Amino acid sequence: MMPEYTPAPRTQHSNSTAGYTGHPQASVDILGVQVHCVDTEGMLAQIAAWVDAAHSAQTHCRQVCTVNPEFIVDARRNPEFAAVLARADLRVPDGIGVLWAARMQGVRLPERVTGSDGIYDICKRAAREGWRVYFLGAAPGVAQHTAEILSELYPGLRVAGCFPGSPSDTSWPEIAERLTEARPDILFVAYGHPRQDLWIDRRRHELPVAVALGVGGAFDFVAGVTPRAPRWMRDLGLEWLYRLIRQPWRWRRMAKLPVFGATVLAQTLRRPRA
Ligand code: UDP
Repeated sequence: MMPEYTPAPRTQHSNSTAGYTGHPQASVDILGVQVHCVDTEGMLAQIAAWVDAAHSAQTHCRQVCTVNPEFIVDARRNPEFAAVLARADLRVPDGIGVLWAARMQGVRLPERVTGSDGIYDICKRAAREGWRVYFLGAAPGVAQHTAEILSELYPGLRVAGCFPGSPSDTSWPEIAERLTEARPDILFVAYGHPRQDLWIDRRRHELPVAVALGVGGAFDFVAGVTPRAPRWMRDLGLEWLYRLIRQPWRWRRMAKLPVFGATVLAQTLRRPRA
């Protein structure tokens, strides 16, 4: 049975959707995945609109996917993942490779919108708006530590709960019970892709939350379990290189990046010139 989403009472006045002009309808096709032309502000405004809508009517959970080149290569190989991405309500451009691929089609996306940075941006906004946030996933203790760090950074952040859980079906009854009790507005799910995105899609009509986002290893970054690339490397779009040096066992995953680049180039060369 679908647990009813009953939003918690607001503690602060919200004008969260005021001035929102971003619209997630505009998108660019990157190798078959429609990536929304949205920046961080646009994502926050969209989330705010969904949370506001959920506060005034019973709505279903909205899904946000942070699409990086690895997602796109995986989606080309895994039709189930491709279908989940297609059904998601918002697919944000996560990764310099996605921005580059859009540029190859003449579309200038404003910036990367990542789960690892997005978790800070969303919690900052949540503290201001009074949204309740829930941290689901990662190794035991990591979600709790993540919530503590973010609460310190953003005083007033309303943490609805933390739980590692697991994406397996056996874990669902306990997760459902905890979420129904906690009544979060925003659910961060850190099970890594594509697992987290498949899980949200599978459960979204039962999830008693306004918005659910897959955030991959973001809790590990916030909690300091995995070091994040220094700012200058991120600014140069070299985060992938830092990850490869620090976590060489990820090379097999990183090997998808040249596949992505080569496929984008091949497609660009095949495209008829205007
Ligand atoms: N994880 C989890 N349960 C699982 C599988 C993974 O909680 O069954 C967590 C893992 O502890 C880590 C995150 O999911 O915190 C995966 O991080 P990764 O950087 O690999 O995410 P990706 O880049 O694949 O999205």
